Amino acid sequence: MVMARPTGPCTKCGAFKGVRFLEHHVTYEPEVTVVLCEGCHTRITQLNTKVARLRNYTPLSTLERYFVFDWWMDEKVVLRRMIDKVVQRLIKDMELRRFD
Ligand SMILES: [Zn+2]
Repeated sequence: MVMARPTGPCTKCGAFKGVRFLEHHVTYEPEVTVVLCEGCHTRITQLNTKVARLRNYTPLSTLERYFVFDWWMDEKVVLRRMIDKVVQRLIKDMELRRFD
């Protein structure tokens, strides 16, 4: 199925024009997607990648994916140079939660 090109606003930053929009998979099963601008999509993807690396590439469960996304939505601004600190905080928060 060919999806229509997503339009804004960005779910994270509210941008609604002048940028490219992408559909982001929050979770795959069930399939939950949101529209993000290119910049926000790059940041959440970077965050997911770093989390996966710190977990020795163990795939995130659906609840964990949802948790990461929800956590990121509450973050105000994630500067690129801050990402390592942010990821460590996120991992700590994840460890405090039980997902089973
Ligand atoms: Zn955005």
